[in-house]
Amino acid sequence: MIRINENYLKLKASYLFSDIAKRVAAHQQRRPEPAVIRLGIGDVTRALPDTCIAAFHEAVDEMAADATFRGYGPEQGYDFLREAIAENDFRARGADIDADEIFVSDGAKCDTGNIQELFASDVRIAIPDPVYPVYLDTNVMAGRSGTFRDGRYEGIVYLDGTADNGFIPDLPAEPVDLIYLCFPNNPTGATISKEQLKTWVDFAAANRAIILYDAAYEAFIRDDALPHSIYEIDGARNVAIEFRSFSKTAGFTGTRCAYTVVPKSLMAYTASGESHSVHRLWNRRHSTKFNGVSYPVQRAAAAIYTDAGKRQVAELIQGYMANADIIRSEMQTLGYDCIGGENAPYIWVATKGDSWAFFDMLLEKAGVVCTPGAGFGTCGEGYIRISAFNSRENVTAAMDRIRRSLKRQCHLEMTNG
Ligand SMILES: *Cc1c(COP(=O)(O)O)cnc(C)c1O
Repeated sequence: MIRINENYLKLKASYLFSDIAKRVAAHQQRRPEPAVIRLGIGDVTRALPDTCIAAFHEAVDEMAADATFRGYGPEQGYDFLREAIAENDFRARGADIDADEIFVSDGAKCDTGNIQELFASDVRIAIPDPVYPVYLDTNVMAGRSGTFRDGRYEGIVYLDGTADNGFIPDLPAEPVDLIYLCFPNNPTGATISKEQLKTWVDFAAANRAIILYDAAYEAFIRDDALPHSIYEIDGARNVAIEFRSFSKTAGFTGTRCAYTVVPKSLMAYTASGESHSVHRLWNRRHSTKFNGVSYPVQRAAAAIYTDAGKRQVAELIQGYMANADIIRSEMQTLGYDCIGGENAPYIWVATKGDSWAFFDMLLEKAGVVCTPGAGFGTCGEGYIRISAFNSRENVTAAMDRIRRSLKRQCHLEMTNG
């Protein structure tokens, strides 16, 4: 009898996006006009930079002639891309990373999901709340979560993000082995300083733990003092794996290209305490289960590192961040506390009450779709996430609608009360 991996039965179905879709559909049925504006999505809306498209086209043409055609490439990625990444994303910032420590892949989602395979099934895992759901669900699938009770898995150490800690979790009170961190954060938009990140690196070193650092949004950092990479912190090469993606940086969500950095100095241990290179293990896993990102896509990604590419990516990011500025300042003017939006494309708004009720109110009164924070974890209750990934026209129109409807509501409450 073929049996299933029963850990899958412990997964909590995420009703978040289907619930949102149902409520939006019902609203549109009742009120087809004006069309809703979606500020709930975590996907980019603007086209790939011209330089990426030109390199993409050129590489496709190479595939069309026998003399320049390419078959299987190196599983870890072509040297032209790994070198450009090491030079521009790390060495230029004083982070000591070599090209052969970079593993090019088709997404940070797969990499953050697959990395846990390298570690024992009984390691203690620390996961933030609120959180990007991939870290938790992949550990549930792997059998590390324990039983779900009262809204949480018993085997997971949750790192609470709250208004008190500014959504930068405190160090766990107990020893842990594997720590997930994401900065700038999805969903809160919170960022971590070098000093704060250093406390995590030191904690990991003291516990012989590994930090899995998701930096998918580093390109949105505007404050020069903030770290773009964990490897800007002393000692991080011995305790951290970093995940990056071209998805949000350069509009590659549908094109697919990302990378993971595994320093050669990073060690993990057998039960008897013998050290092993994590780079070696990941290389083995990556080359066994993955056959590389397509050549034209890697050419398109490498074009980001040319002068024109850097300029165009910066314009793309500035466009979204100008949206973030509009959203954040409007919500603050309306009297709502906000986190994020300064160095991240997400604004995390305190709703002064139930996050689904606020979602419904924005939908009904303003025809604007956001994401209820409760969908990202128990600590997300009382917040909504507003995304800056949209056109300027849609963002200004959405904020006009929100302003008018909230003022109307406020006026009603005052006249009724
Ligand atoms: C969007 C996102 C990613 C990127 O995933 P890709 O698979 O590279 O598109 C990774 N981590 C977080 C937190 C994200 O929001």
